[in-house]
Amino acid sequence: MNKTPITVAYGDGIGPEIMQATLDILTAGGAQLDIETIEIGEKVYLSGNSAGIAPEAWESLRRTKVFLKAPITTPQGGGFKSLNVTTRKVLGLYANVRPCVAYAPFVSTKHPKMDVVIVRENEEDLYAGIEHQQTPEVVQCLKLISRPGTEKIVRYAFEYARAYGRKKVTCFTKDNIMKQTDGLFHKVFDEVAKEYPDIENEHWIVDIGAAKLADTPEAFDVIVMPNLYGDILSDVAAQIAGSVGLAGSSNIGQEVAMFEAIHGSAPRRAGQNLANPSGLLLGSIMMLVHIGQSEVAERVHNAWLKTLEDGIHTYDIYDEAVSTEKVGTKEFAQAVIARMGQKPSTLTPVSYAQAKDVNFNTTPTPQAPVKIDTVGVDIFLRCDDRDPNKLGEALKDYTAGNMHLSMITNRGVKVWPNGFAETFCTDHWRCRFKSDDLAPSTYQDIIQLQQAVTEAGYEIIKTENLCTFDGQPVFSAGQGA
Ligand code: NAD
Repeated sequence: MNKTPITVAYGDGIGPEIMQATLDILTAGGAQLDIETIEIGEKVYLSGNSAGIAPEAWESLRRTKVFLKAPITTPQGGGFKSLNVTTRKVLGLYANVRPCVAYAPFVSTKHPKMDVVIVRENEEDLYAGIEHQQTPEVVQCLKLISRPGTEKIVRYAFEYARAYGRKKVTCFTKDNIMKQTDGLFHKVFDEVAKEYPDIENEHWIVDIGAAKLADTPEAFDVIVMPNLYGDILSDVAAQIAGSVGLAGSSNIGQEVAMFEAIHGSAPRRAGQNLANPSGLLLGSIMMLVHIGQSEVAERVHNAWLKTLEDGIHTYDIYDEAVSTEKVGTKEFAQAVIARMGQKPSTLTPVSYAQAKDVNFNTTPTPQAPVKIDTVGVDIFLRCDDRDPNKLGEALKDYTAGNMHLSMITNRGVKVWPNGFAETFCTDHWRCRFKSDDLAPSTYQDIIQLQQAVTEAGYEIIKTENLCTFDGQPVFSAGQGA
């Protein structure tokens, strides 16, 4: 078999020890790897590179397109960019896949039957990093959800389910509140689900879904989520499986893929031959499937399960009741190597015979063009006077094109006309100008309105156009409006 080129980073803290243990196990399992090593993390940050990764390291990643990464330490203090976030975004690693499996009775958990895969969207949502302080009192973070981004991640979840013999894909959103952003995610989920009649599908509102996941994880199979919910709930899921130290994950892009443990560099445990290499090992097993070495993946995974089952445990999962031997990182690796070719007898052995490459084709469907009309504008103002009626009186006679003042909100709550005196107001106001019958206006009209508002002495923070797509309004009505 030809060797597959991969890029390896040994990372910081416990990184070098768990990476060495992982590579030793992979080699013993017969993995055919041609390894390029790169330096990332603490040393690179502290040498003055705020991204923590040097240009030649990017070159290696773009050449091999496969990255096995040990955890790194982000130095304390400002100015250091998260290497993980940079890598995901720059290389377009849109899918974060995290299997969360219980290994009862060998690793203690309240949920012995749990076997959930979290598929988290990795590039969009509130992680776009577009934040502004708009007034002395109010800051904003933009939540961006795109149709192609959503289609890719949802399709990935269904393709993954099919390839790995999973029965159901669940979607979590908060579309009862965020009707446009989470609404789009849910809508695309429903559309894509129809293309996979062999896989059951369902949607839960994220709050009750998260509660159900924490209480009855065995009710779920694959769960697909926007970035923020996925970030939080993938940690919850790994933790309740009993095993943050045992979970691996993949970050998949159209070109490049990155594989890692979910935990950090555990600096307090570094250099003591204590750390559990299992999270990184499970990440590397996902990598083997990705590069077409499924047989090796199966052999290594089963040997690892057998080791767990034989009670050979590192300190983090050692439990007198079930463990037979407390071992260090190297000894654990040796124990897995000694069991190469064996299968577990109590835990279910894995089979990757059917598993396909994890880099599925998730190309989004081209959309038909839509007719877009501008029917109004939300003008956001800073105004220190907290009387909405005064503001309403001052702006109510301004018109341009077909637009006139239809409402004023403060943090989304309607305060004019007919607001409640009890509503708490900040210095941040949204003034909505639009036509009553969705008749279009021009951008010139919007500029004219802004001119008038500015001349009246108000400070405009930003504007948002109100549009119809093929005649349908595509903006939120506003609470109480
Ligand atoms: P951590 O995951 O490193 O440690 C949390 C706890 O889990 C500690 O008690 C640690 O001893 C234990 N632990 C973690 N992995 C273990 C293992 N393999 N075996 C045994 N015990 C293990 O989280 P932290 O302490 O919050 O972060 C430490 C550093 O790691 C920080 O600099 C942080 O930025 C970084 N970090 C990196 C990544 C990454 O590179 N992907 C992810 C998370 C945190």
